[in-house]
Amino acid sequence: MNKIKNIGELLLEYRMITREELDKALVYQKDTGLKLGEALVKLGVIKQDEIDYILSRQVDEPFVILDDLQIDDELVRKFDTNFLKQNRILPIYEDEHSITVATDDPFNEDAFEILRSEMGKDINLVVSYGRKIEEALSPFDSGVTLDQLQTCIRKIISFMENTSFYRVDFIGLDNGLFVNIFGFGIILDFTRLSSRCSVAQLQEALKLENVDYFYRLNETGHGFIFCIYPITTDTVITPDSGPIVCSGYGLVKMGGLAFSDMDFSGSDLFFKSEQPVNGYYFYSFERFSGYSKSINIVDNLKDFSDKYIVKGFIPSKCVSCGAKGCEKCGFSGYTFSEIEENDSSEKVFNKLNEVLYGQN
Ligand SMILES: [Zn+2]
Repeated sequence: MNKIKNIGELLLEYRMITREELDKALVYQKDTGLKLGEALVKLGVIKQDEIDYILSRQVDEPFVILDDLQIDDELVRKFDTNFLKQNRILPIYEDEHSITVATDDPFNEDAFEILRSEMGKDINLVVSYGRKIEEALSPFDSGVTLDQLQTCIRKIISFMENTSFYRVDFIGLDNGLFVNIFGFGIILDFTRLSSRCSVAQLQEALKLENVDYFYRLNETGHGFIFCIYPITTDTVITPDSGPIVCSGYGLVKMGGLAFSDMDFSGSDLFFKSEQPVNGYYFYSFERFSGYSKSINIVDNLKDFSDKYIVKGFIPSKCVSCGAKGCEKCGFSGYTFSEIEENDSSEKVFNKLNEVLYGQN
């Protein structure tokens, strides 16, 4: 649905208010912090049900009176109540493909887009009274739950499995948590939660989901960027013949002690050092380290040499959807093929270069 007109313009167009009344209401709205419709009602310019009628006609959505509806507690609890309350949105019905929400502002497209992205479903609107929506939402607590974060993390990790993604960025802002996934030159805007959350909550959820990871944390005045590189726990390799380049989900857990110049959480097989330490494996994230027993991530490699072992998955644009995202590619736009043991590293690197840098 496109944003068409605001309520003031609509009421003018329907000749239900005058320009002078609108201007007066705009001043009153500014002073009181009310919504424009409420200001008009308060000033006695128009009745609430007239506004509702116009709104429902304009956006061509059915109009329901919330009194007639059962509130679905379980459905409401799937959302961040703060966000619902702020936007006066009440989820009332969910089916396989869509969620129906009641709103007093059918032009609040930003909010509906967040819900759409968060739930992965279409959002249908019905228009109702703001006050009734507030009443319906008032018994619900606010804030993100650990449960919501754990569910989100489980989704991320299972999505990353058998792909070339290896890095997750959690970007925490006032209006929610944004999650991006990286790997092999691909960046995916994976999901966003409408809830605010803290780094500590994320760390707790990762711990509860048994995810080991290297991480970097940047906190700014506006929020945080918490960047993690998960480590797989089910693979043990020993790079006897030289550096290993990883591109698959998570970095590979080593058989022996390893170190990195990044912070980490979870496994006790790792320690932190700013400098290479002789005799230990080294995890490198920024660039090829040149250290003899090293494990690197692939995105920063541009040179090819015979002595590398390459583990992971090579992405190709999904042929079914032309990289737009479909069910076949898990909505990532890419499909992934595992690098075969007997692929020569030259062959592998040519493929990598093709994907990463568009060259052979
Ligand atoms: Zn596809």
